[in-house]
Amino acid sequence: MSQYWSKLVHRLEPYVPGEQPQDQAYIKLNTNESPYPPSPAIQRVLGTFAAENLRRYPDPQSGDLVTALAAYHGLGDDQVFVGNGSDEVLAHAFQALLQQDTPILFPDISYSFYPVYCALYRIDFERIALDEAFRIRVDDYRRGNGGVILPNPNAPTGIALTLRDIARLLEQNRSSAVIIDEAYVDFGAATAVPLIADHPNLLVTRSFSKSRNLAGLRLGYALGHADLIEGLQRVKNSFNSYPVDSLASSIGLASIDDEDYFQDCIRRIVASREKLVTDLRQLGFETFPSSANFVFVRHPDRNAEKLYFDLKSAGILVRYFGGARIDDCLRITVGSDDECAALISALASLLK
Ligand SMILES: *Cc1c(COP(=O)(O)O)cnc(C)c1O
Repeated sequence: MSQYWSKLVHRLEPYVPGEQPQDQAYIKLNTNESPYPPSPAIQRVLGTFAAENLRRYPDPQSGDLVTALAAYHGLGDDQVFVGNGSDEVLAHAFQALLQQDTPILFPDISYSFYPVYCALYRIDFERIALDEAFRIRVDDYRRGNGGVILPNPNAPTGIALTLRDIARLLEQNRSSAVIIDEAYVDFGAATAVPLIADHPNLLVTRSFSKSRNLAGLRLGYALGHADLIEGLQRVKNSFNSYPVDSLASSIGLASIDDEDYFQDCIRRIVASREKLVTDLRQLGFETFPSSANFVFVRHPDRNAEKLYFDLKSAGILVRYFGGARIDDCLRITVGSDDECAALISALASLLK
């Protein structure tokens, strides 16, 4: 606390990310990082990148990266916006598109950064309850709003909406922006990108952190109608002209180029997820159907917070959120098969 803080800063309750312990080597299944390294092409970029390049500011438009992403998604360059992680892209989207006179809507159980951006940008919001099975009911969003944002698949549930559901959401919501946060879409959900052509109010956000094994790089992007992208650019150019550094651009390009490695990692993680779900069920856990690189689980007669602490003592980190409706749940990132096996054997002995 300081008397020099603004009123706004006094009121902020910042987002608390999952632990990144620096002291001890945990089996880290708490922040949805990939168990696999980035593509070997990226180590080659790091080996050949000329330090001389860092003398100059990067291209403020990240033109090469934008062009590569546009080609990858079959869109025009003016339909792509890149930023320093998708969290930053989302922050700009909140300010550029969701700061309206009417409250915005998002699910009651969802990415906990959304209410934090709302506080930062003074945006009113309403939380729309998931159903009993923790599914988003698109029809519940049929009401006046200043915008809608939801992750697909949702986090931390892992449950995906179908493309038809998203199309319906867009049909019934034409007068405000709809943001679909696709941080986890590559692990098994249908992307809303094909809907961009007919829906000038749709913004899709993506991340290099999860499915491209590059959480440390901080690279994310948004796709949408050129007018939406221009709105994001106006905010970005009023905030930081150079959010993506030269090295990050080169690494991002190398990642996009290595489609085989990308697909191979996804296949492995999806296979590990299916095995993990089977093993957790055998231990008596209830699991929600996951299309992401994590599973959301609860045990009918075990305290989730205690399980979290006991696992931590055993050297395994998972995520416990607490809070309304999910205080009996844990979110577990899909690790390598060895990491998942270690988790299952630790849980087996804790549950004995
Ligand atoms: C991880 C995550 C992000 C942020 O990704 P970064 O690109 O690492 O900033 C955005 N949305 C959701 C739902 C996430 O889980």
